[in-house]
Amino acid sequence: VDQTYIMIKPDGVQRGLVGEIISRFERKGFKLTGLKMFQCPAELAEEHYKDLSAKPFYPKLIDYITSGPVVCMAWEGVGVVASARKLIGSTDPLQAEPGTIRGDLAVQTGRNVIHGSDSPENGKREIALWFKEGELC
Ligand code: ATP
Ligand code: MG
Repeated sequence: VDQTYIMIKPDGVQRGLVGEIISRFERKGFKLTGLKMFQCPAELAEEHYKDLSAKPFYPKLIDYITSGPVVCMAWEGVGVVASARKLIGSTDPLQAEPGTIRGDLAVQTGRNVIHGSDSPENGKREIALWFKEGELC
């Protein structure tokens, strides 16, 4: 069974979108296997986004992710990685389709509310990075 790491970014938490976002994944039919709220240290944000470390926006991205608490989630289900990316929508919320989380709830790429793993391999890697063994059901 596939697993994906979903994270509500600090703007999503601050704006009170946690329930709305969790509802969308629950209604779709995926299984929540991990959930916690967390003030992310810079080292963890840097490790999580290490593939983007050469990008010009990387320092701002680390500032953004560490600017307040995030909600960390592990979700399980057949095809959950690709399906979650569809539910989330395009990276730039102005390009994201209406009906998607970013399409409905965001306007700026630098404040796009939510993260979702981009491959099953990264799903496993990110869940292992953000959760300890005993925190997952
Ligand atoms: P995520 O990995 O957070 O799910 P994504 O896979 O849609 O998003 P990535 O290319 O992995 O997009 O970029 C990671 C995050 O970096 C984006 O979600 C966004 O918050 C930020 N980001 C990406 N491109 C830009 C940009 N051009 N300007 C500012 N921030 C950006
Ligand atoms: Mg990504």
